[in-house]
Amino acid sequence: MSDSRPTVAVLGGAVAGLAAAEHLRRFGDVTLFERQSYDDKRVNCGEAVNDAGLVPFPKTPDNGFLTRVDGFDLRVHPSTDRDPGAAPLASPRLGVERGYITDRDVLERRWADRLRDRGVEVREGANVTPSRYREVVAEFDRVVDATGQPALSLKARGETDRYAGDMVALNADVTGDFSDYRRHPRIVFEGYVGYGWVFPKSDGRANVGVGWAGDERPDNYRAALDAFCDRAGVPRPDGGAVNAYTIPRGPSLAPELVRPEPNVYLVGDAAGIANRYQGEGICQAIRSAWLLADCLADGRGDDYPDRLYDAMKDEYRLATLMRGVWEETEDPRLLAAVAAAVDGLTVDDVTRHPRRVYARLAARPRLLSRLARVPGLRRRLVDGYRDRWEYDGVTH
Ligand SMILES: Cc1cc2nc3c(=O)[nH]c(=O)nc-3n(C[C@H](O)[C@H](O)[C@H](O)COP(=O)(O)OP(=O)(O)OC[C@H]3O[C@@H](n4cnc5c(N)ncnc54)[C@H](O)[C@@H]3O)c2cc1C
Repeated sequence: MSDSRPTVAVLGGAVAGLAAAEHLRRFGDVTLFERQSYDDKRVNCGEAVNDAGLVPFPKTPDNGFLTRVDGFDLRVHPSTDRDPGAAPLASPRLGVERGYITDRDVLERRWADRLRDRGVEVREGANVTPSRYREVVAEFDRVVDATGQPALSLKARGETDRYAGDMVALNADVTGDFSDYRRHPRIVFEGYVGYGWVFPKSDGRANVGVGWAGDERPDNYRAALDAFCDRAGVPRPDGGAVNAYTIPRGPSLAPELVRPEPNVYLVGDAAGIANRYQGEGICQAIRSAWLLADCLADGRGDDYPDRLYDAMKDEYRLATLMRGVWEETEDPRLLAAVAAAVDGLTVDDVTRHPRRVYARLAARPRLLSRLARVPGLRRRLVDGYRDRWEYDGVTH
């Protein structure tokens, strides 16, 4: 190790940690700690990467990039209780420019190999306990906490109370005939806050799952996943193959938690930045790691929490509004009308560019006036622009 280069510990070696190591190796001597072995790593995820350009190596099947997709087909149904052949209320399509359905465990293994080749010390099977965490913070100049939810740094400080598992999701790789879905990954809304998905990895394999947010949850998650598969006309997964996980919210709106100690920074799910509406978090995780690396390389690590907040605020606002369309009305026809209004936009537009969504709504005055008559949506709009959408009392 050189005396002049800072030492950096990256805790957690999934997408956020790998991206942090990738960019910070130019800034310092990086050691990455991952508790699993990359050969056995399990990821709980739909494995859709909306902007594969964020991953710095060729998009080949060997590197885990399986199906190139140029968009997602949405289906909005009134409820789970419907005729199997019933037409959806709306079937818009959202584009992506550089989308892939991946084998994320392969992608992460390849990324770790690449980092090793470039001088990063990658330690697999290296679980960092809360007491070891204290030693790491003392030993290294900078520590990046990319341990997902809840963040190790906050666990070690006993500060996980502001976390909430916001969305419970189950998914599995399923084998069957997915030739109809090839290039047309599908997202299905069925009258609850959340959705199901069928993301094809090949003609014969797909990542299938369901996520539920809000208060209405099924009594039996596994049975609900099986029922979704039946409605979607895809095989049910094998028992042991199902992953269950929660998608976090917070604490990225509270800067003191994103940088809980002078030399510790949270990225990715550890910072709670997965999308609050549709649960996407891979690109968000990578972007947060890049942002941190930029800040540290410029000697402006202090700026990271505010810059992360600035980078995320449009996304937080849009998520609270989009989710509000369902939660405040529970009217599937209204959700379908909004979904139809955004037809042809990109996932990135409906995630991070409120103006493009507002422009679509403004072109539909009757829909806009229906939305404006919903008191809860008006409140969400005001709260969104006053930054009060998540934690009481947190303002910027
Ligand atoms: C069911 C489901 C489906 C999803 N589908 C999608 C999707 O299709 N597209 C999308 O973009 N997003 C999706 N997401 C969200 C996405 O999976 C997360 O936002 C993303 O994984 C965040 O990456 P991360 O690197 O921050 O954290 P994580 O993926 O949680 O990784 C944390 C890493 O840290 C390691 N670790 C944890 N604790 C320690 C420790 N103490 N010591 C050492 N290592 C540790 C873990 O082993 C893990 O490798 C989905 C989420 C769920 C739950």
